[in-house]
Amino acid sequence: MTDENDIQCVLCEEELPDRDRTYFAEPETEYEGKPVCEVCYYEADPAATLYFGDDETPYVISSVRNDTDAQFWVSWHSTDPWRGYYELHSSDYSCVLSDAILAWHESEAMLKELNDRLMAEFEEADVSHVRAFLRTSNVFSTGLDFWAKNDPLSLLPACAILAMRSTPPDTRDRCRSSLSIAT
Ligand SMILES: [Zn+2]
Repeated sequence: MTDENDIQCVLCEEELPDRDRTYFAEPETEYEGKPVCEVCYYEADPAATLYFGDDETPYVISSVRNDTDAQFWVSWHSTDPWRGYYELHSSDYSCVLSDAILAWHESEAMLKELNDRLMAEFEEADVSHVRAFLRTSNVFSTGLDFWAKNDPLSLLPACAILAMRSTPPDTRDRCRSSLSIAT
């Protein structure tokens, strides 16, 4: 008997018999460095799902997994003991637009349209951008963020594109503070 036999998955508490096949929660996750079983590693609920540019590959951030190599990380923002939402953070990118998708609501169609148009305009202007879908405590509501790389060649055109649209004041403020980072 060695103490290796005492390792448990941090999420499901199942004993992890074989240390060589144990996963460890990745950097910039809630359980960073803690052992986790293969099933929990792959199946823990994503807090955020990110898409880089027009690449359709999903990059997941959960409590044990961070596919972005810690370029992004999440924190839980609680609005009361039962409710809240995940917020995304990055030191390489700035959030230029943040909204919420409500299922079965007309905002879903509007955001889909905004998503498609912004994607096309950002691609055309060579903006290095990331779209992020963020979990909330409301199963019918998902956060949708657009992030642009902290580089004037990405942030300036991103903010110019957003400024030409009728965007809520909150978005313009975000752009202004993002630009002061880039310049
Ligand atoms: Zn597990």
